[in-house]
Amino acid sequence: MSFNKELQQLAADMAETMYAAKGIGLAAPQIGVDRRVIVADVSDSQDSLHVLVNPVIVDRGGSASIGEGCLSIPNAYAKVNRSAWVTVGGCDANGSHIEVSADGMLAMVLQHEIDHLDGILFFDHLAERTQRALGLTDAVRQMR
Ligand SMILES: [Zn+2]
Repeated sequence: MSFNKELQQLAADMAETMYAAKGIGLAAPQIGVDRRVIVADVSDSQDSLHVLVNPVIVDRGGSASIGEGCLSIPNAYAKVNRSAWVTVGGCDANGSHIEVSADGMLAMVLQHEIDHLDGILFFDHLAERTQRALGLTDAVRQMR
């Protein structure tokens, strides 16, 4: 992936879309862009933006779950078991290597968004019975 103005614009557009939707994370495939870029900001003040290009979880541990939702799946929420903390390596929008270590909400969001890059949605982590109980029909599940 080349680190050019186009990529920087993509990251800026993604952040704007995320903030406008009052989201705390967004992955490029969610806005129809097939690139491995995620943004996340779990701060109330919307001033702690993380932009990660080609993010990879390089270390993880523990287990935790929070109620998750997804901008791509309105009105569906469920607890998802994930690692309690992660270290994510990748690049920023300028191509500099960065590493983000996170626990709590940010760790959950990073895992959720990196999943999006591989076409995995949060309810893919749930038992089928739970998916049905949440009304996640096949039609909804095909929204990726
Ligand atoms: Zn999502």
